[in-house]
Amino acid sequence: MPIAARDNGSPGLSEYLRKRDFSTTPEPGGKQPGRADSGLPRFVVQEHHARSLHWDFRIESAGVLRSWAVPKGPPLEPGVKRLAVAVEDHPLDYIDFAGVIPPGNYGAGEVLIWDQGTYEMLEETDAALRLRLAGGRLAGVYQLVHTRSNQWLMWRRDDG
Ligand code: MN
Repeated sequence: MPIAARDNGSPGLSEYLRKRDFSTTPEPGGKQPGRADSGLPRFVVQEHHARSLHWDFRIESAGVLRSWAVPKGPPLEPGVKRLAVAVEDHPLDYIDFAGVIPPGNYGAGEVLIWDQGTYEMLEETDAALRLRLAGGRLAGVYQLVHTRSNQWLMWRRDDG
């Protein structure tokens, strides 16, 4: 998977747009939705039945959805560490996307919304994020730590 170059000069949505043909995929092309009623930034987890099943964790940040692919899904129990691979930023309106990406397209397969909610950023550095998630399934404080290249580890903290 490609490395998201966000930390060293964000490419914005150029990689997202370059990988997709919007005449053949139902995925959004980039118009901006409104904020959640709470005014807090939103997150989503999409269950993506691509060639390899994975879960995509995305957070609203700086006008895009900062995104990670989590092969085993975000952990529900504190202390369980899961690999999260940083992928290209997605447009904000992808947060409500569910549907089938037809065969032949990038990421072909079904996308389901597994969880959605708002979050509060508690700590943000180049190497680590700590967020309080308020979703249906993910509720509590989560930590993401950058380990190497595009790889991060994600876990639920038990001190939330
Ligand atoms: Mn995906």
